[in-house]
Amino acid sequence: MLNYDLGDIVTLKKPHPCGENKWEIVRTGVDIKLKCLGCNRLVWLPRIDFEKRVRKILVDEKWISIVHYKGKDHKEDEE
Ligand SMILES: [Zn+2]
Repeated sequence: MLNYDLGDIVTLKKPHPCGENKWEIVRTGVDIKLKCLGCNRLVWLPRIDFEKRVRKILVDEKWISIVHYKGKDHKEDEE
């Protein structure tokens, strides 16, 4: 299971009704709280739904597809 950090910016399978599809993670845990960066609305998603819907994550100003994302601190030759 990937670890997401507070402040991570992600895109989801579907954009918010306001048209924006950039979300900031503002709370993690069993439920994930996301802030829409278009209209600043907050939504809660059960973590399992979040993990099904998340598509990309912004790392060092680049969008990384979540299937290629191993976590920011992941090192191939550790563990
Ligand atoms: Zn919105």
